[in-house]
Amino acid sequence: MNLRTLIVLRRLSQTAFVLLFLVLFVQARLSSDTMVDYSLTLENAQPFTIRSPVDFFFRIDPLLRLTTLLAGKLWLAGIGWAIGLMAMTAILGRVFCGFICPFGTIHHAASLGIRSNCDAAIPPRSRLIKYAFLAAILVSGILGLELAGILDPLCLLFRSLALSIFPGIGLMLKSAFDAMAASDIKWINLASYAAEMIISPIFGYGYPAYQTGGLIGLLFLALVWLNRFSPRFWCRVLCPLGALLGLIGRYTRLVLLTDEARCNACGLCQSRCPSAARSGKTPASWNPSECLYCLTCMNVCPQEAISLRVAQAGAPPKFAPTRRAMLSGMVAGLFLPAVGRVDGRLFAASDPALIRPPGSLDEIDFLAVCARCGLCMKVCPTNAINPAWGEAGLAGFWTPVIIPKQGYCELSCTLCSQLCPTGAIRPITPEEKKTKPIRIGSASIDRGRCLPWSGNGPCIVCEEVCPTSPKAIVFDTVDTTGADGEPLKLKLPKIRLQHCVGCGICENKCPISGSAAVHVIAAGETRNPRHGLLL
Ligand code: SF4
Ligand code: SF4
Repeated sequence: MNLRTLIVLRRLSQTAFVLLFLVLFVQARLSSDTMVDYSLTLENAQPFTIRSPVDFFFRIDPLLRLTTLLAGKLWLAGIGWAIGLMAMTAILGRVFCGFICPFGTIHHAASLGIRSNCDAAIPPRSRLIKYAFLAAILVSGILGLELAGILDPLCLLFRSLALSIFPGIGLMLKSAFDAMAASDIKWINLASYAAEMIISPIFGYGYPAYQTGGLIGLLFLALVWLNRFSPRFWCRVLCPLGALLGLIGRYTRLVLLTDEARCNACGLCQSRCPSAARSGKTPASWNPSECLYCLTCMNVCPQEAISLRVAQAGAPPKFAPTRRAMLSGMVAGLFLPAVGRVDGRLFAASDPALIRPPGSLDEIDFLAVCARCGLCMKVCPTNAINPAWGEAGLAGFWTPVIIPKQGYCELSCTLCSQLCPTGAIRPITPEEKKTKPIRIGSASIDRGRCLPWSGNGPCIVCEEVCPTSPKAIVFDTVDTTGADGEPLKLKLPKIRLQHCVGCGICENKCPISGSAAVHVIAAGETRNPRHGLLL
């Protein structure tokens, strides 16, 4: 196959996989039909499901599957995809990085867009950092803490788009549409409604916002900006999935051969290679562990001396992750789970605000597998699930936590449990949620702030919205005297803990501004018997 065909093929493949990623990403939400149907007919509504394989990219990710296996001892359905990808890498090298990885493609495009300076490339030894990250992730996985998702490119991309980039763009567009809708000019008015109808399915109907979204977005932009210093900086220096594939693909049969008779030692292939896969004396030696199959070297060679061939596996390349890099990664892998646990939040002293989605595993098992990918946060129709900031301690940073003031857990919904790609949230059914209640916490009333309890007037909102049957909020009716001295009948709400599932709708809908008069805390959650409400 000639060079031009190969480059066209690579571009087509990269574009197709980025589009596939985006299409699946956008489909990771409840359809508007289901939501409308549900709000109109409640009981007879369509079930809350997403039929597209929105978790496809997580299922093919070998790093994620490996750490789930090591840390959570979970052999998940669909693991064959990841094994297939590893087999492909063993034969064809890191073609995933050059032809498939959507995060790699973004860096590829960014390198071209912001004109990276290849000649002033960073030291070749910087490549070792990704192997140190890989070692740290694997060791901490063996010790029971899943860290892969923080740096795994597919998780990082999904999390950044879902929790920061798309919500940010959506909010900006909404402000523009609101301004257009306020205009006196009719066609601008109409255009704003039409545009909102078109973009809402892409950016989410509720314009969700997430805790730490700004930080996640800044990190993403910083990683893209690093291409300024070296093309595909992420792939070359930081990506632990690339490191894993590089190790697997060391003996690849798909090789980039240099014809020594043609090579005039100009060094262009070395200086233009974004991954520093070509080094040493000319003709440069080629390192299959580092090669991204971007074909830049073939493209820039003025002598057309480089060709892509299927060949017998040669001697393994000299460059390999050094012992020091692997050791420092392993020490970090030992250290990180310990740091995560010394704050004690994994045990009984759990933060009251650590309300996990329904179906979540016990906290220790949860942290062993949750990849912090953000899929549960994206699909949650009420924007209830957010990335944890301090609620879950250091070990649980960016793991999912429900913030009732922001969104409540809908009783008929099990989307997060259906789609979690790592099993951190086990599959549950709506019936299970309703009939043998899965408690995620318990509500309590702040009598000082509650309108009826504080004598400031009637209010029955929390009882009205409580979805359990029988209701977890009931009233004691008392005769009292109002502030104006007139007799007043007040309904005082009280919580029946045996019926409360901790969904948080009472806290979410409580009309008291600022801190609500009813709060949900994690105590009483069924996933953790040590975390009962009563000692
Ligand atoms: S719990 Fe949420 S963030 Fe964690 S792996 Fe599952 S879907 Fe991803
Ligand atoms: S937290 Fe509740 S409402 Fe949100 S996705 Fe999970 S089950 Fe559905």
